[in-house]
Amino acid sequence: MAKKEFKAESKRLLEMMINSIYSQKEVFLRELLSNSSDAIDKIYYKALTDDSLTFEKDSYYIKVAADKDNRTLTITDTGIGMTREELESNLGTIAKSGSLAFKTENEAKDGHDIIGQFGVGFYAAFMVADVVTVISKSLGSDEAYKWESTGADGYTIELAEKDSVGTEIILKMKENTEDESYDEYLEEYRLKAIIKKYSDFIRYPIKMDVTSK
Ligand code: ADP
Ligand code: MG
Repeated sequence: MAKKEFKAESKRLLEMMINSIYSQKEVFLRELLSNSSDAIDKIYYKALTDDSLTFEKDSYYIKVAADKDNRTLTITDTGIGMTREELESNLGTIAKSGSLAFKTENEAKDGHDIIGQFGVGFYAAFMVADVVTVISKSLGSDEAYKWESTGADGYTIELAEKDSVGTEIILKMKENTEDESYDEYLEEYRLKAIIKKYSDFIRYPIKMDVTSK
């Protein structure tokens, strides 16, 4: 399958994020959880005006699952999901949220803390993951799609299997290096602490599942 290139600005920010020495990698989780929360909000607001939809609060949640053996962290939500076109336009373009302009302006002043304070969005996942896979089924769609990327070199989109509406994001965590350990993001206590710290960003219940041999 032919790889598609990210838009130029996306590429720049992505490279910067992947390569920067960055003290607050943990914000990747805040960003993904807030996206999940936003996606559930979208169903909630739709249900207010669409009589064919009912919003049963209990059926909407976010799940964080760590698999230590495979070194994957999976964030699943029952939100509105994305169509193929939305995967392409939302995850193929980063400059949209305005993060790039902000970062460029402030880069010189404070290289470290900007990202931690500012919403950088989905691409923050690449600070901790080598491969990011997004499987999504949009509300009202029969088909699901898989978006996958190993970072700045582009992404693929293909048809996938998914029963329920919503989005699943699978992070294949980076290998540990001498200076940097990514294993901590697979630990329940660490995940819980991050979730607690950023709980203001999340308006729905979070389920947790940590497995290892
Ligand atoms: P922002 O949240 O500021 O718009 P992001 O980079 O975090 O920027 O996300 C880009 C877009 O991708 C979102 O606006 C949304 O449309 C889409 N998106 C990301 N994660 C999800 C998700 N879990 N469910 C549905 N859509 C999502
Ligand atoms: Mg976001």
